[in-house]
Amino acid sequence: MNAVDLIRHKRDGRELSPREIRWLIEKYTDGFVTDYQMAAMTMAIFFSGLNPDELAVWTDAMLHSGEVLDLGEIVGAKIDKHSTGGVGDKVSIPLVSMVAAAGVRVPMISGRGLGHTGGTLDKLEAIPGFTTTLDPKSFVAQLEEIGLVLAGQSESLVPADRKLYALRDASGTVESRPLIASSVMSKKLAEDLDGLVLDVKVGRGAFMRDIDQARALARTMVDLGAAHKVPVVALLTCMDQPLGREVGNASEISESLQVLRGEGPDDLTEITLSLGSEMLLLGAIATDHQQAREILQRTIDDGSALEKFAEAIEAQGGDPRVVEDPELLPQPAGRIDIPAPRGGFVTVCDAFTIGIAAMRLGAGRERKEDPIDPSVGVTVHAKVGDTVTTGQPLATVAWTDEARLEAATEILERAWRIEDQLVPPNPIVLEEIR
Ligand code: URA
Repeated sequence: MNAVDLIRHKRDGRELSPREIRWLIEKYTDGFVTDYQMAAMTMAIFFSGLNPDELAVWTDAMLHSGEVLDLGEIVGAKIDKHSTGGVGDKVSIPLVSMVAAAGVRVPMISGRGLGHTGGTLDKLEAIPGFTTTLDPKSFVAQLEEIGLVLAGQSESLVPADRKLYALRDASGTVESRPLIASSVMSKKLAEDLDGLVLDVKVGRGAFMRDIDQARALARTMVDLGAAHKVPVVALLTCMDQPLGREVGNASEISESLQVLRGEGPDDLTEITLSLGSEMLLLGAIATDHQQAREILQRTIDDGSALEKFAEAIEAQGGDPRVVEDPELLPQPAGRIDIPAPRGGFVTVCDAFTIGIAAMRLGAGRERKEDPIDPSVGVTVHAKVGDTVTTGQPLATVAWTDEARLEAATEILERAWRIEDQLVPPNPIVLEEIR
């Protein structure tokens, strides 16, 4: 078989056979098919798509590119959550701490920043010493011991997604329904789950900008789960503006800690409770949403969620003192404010533009080998529906490199629209698909 022939087939809109797909994923994982060939293939898929049969095989080939976990020996429901990617989307961090404290086992395999969106792994690695590279044996042992693991794709766990994810990030092929669905579901199906909750983001800062595309993506992933006998619930949630106030890596860990102390912003807390309730229902820890919310709230009130996060940090080599003292997280060289050019109501606070600005500052990658600067980011002060006066700070930028700061502030100045009429923000949870 020959990679160039397969690229041409897909470029010309032809269906790939199961044998061809399995060969391609296997040979890309072992390095025989090169990055530039796979970049061409993902671009061909971006334009020509994968039909449901191709997608099922593509996902299965990725899932089996490494070891598939066997959690059969571990007592209790194994439930996970995954987001399709947003700006300021640190939900996984407080969420899994609360849900694990409530008794669900959470074997989470996450991703890095993708395009203008942040990634859970990059955020966790802002904690000094924290490692997200776990071999399957340590992964299972930690899940058994403390009920929570936060790892990344590795040489042994979904290595095909590890490579493809970074490649798509740097080649403009992220926003493809079959590539997102196979990336998410290959990771999640490798976890041997009893249930999965998906946060499918919709809006200006999401990869799916309109609700019909988001519905189709959610349906595709729910069906992939059903084909593997894993119940999946998808919430479609609004990603027009950043979630919470912080966009960065260390700063998003700080804000996650605020949620775990019961002091988080309303939108972030609400989405965490909505997704967490679905996880408790799937795990049979609660029988209805109200009971689930009460259980989750208790993990905040009694400090058990914060304690669970500290346990996971310690188990993965990180410094658990950050939980009590977020000042131990990496700090920027300086901070400057972005003033409002006029007074009025904020009608747009554009998640995409803010995500791009944070990436330019160094919070995300423009090339796959770029390092992340965990200390930089944007703190958003003015969100849709807020009133501002001329000169009031719309945001504060945390920076370490002056040239990057200049590029980022130029972008950020375009992120807000301020008008005379109040426009209320969209609701945060839009729809549920199961
Ligand atoms: N999350 C993933 O794991 N993969 C994608 O492609 C997008 C979001």
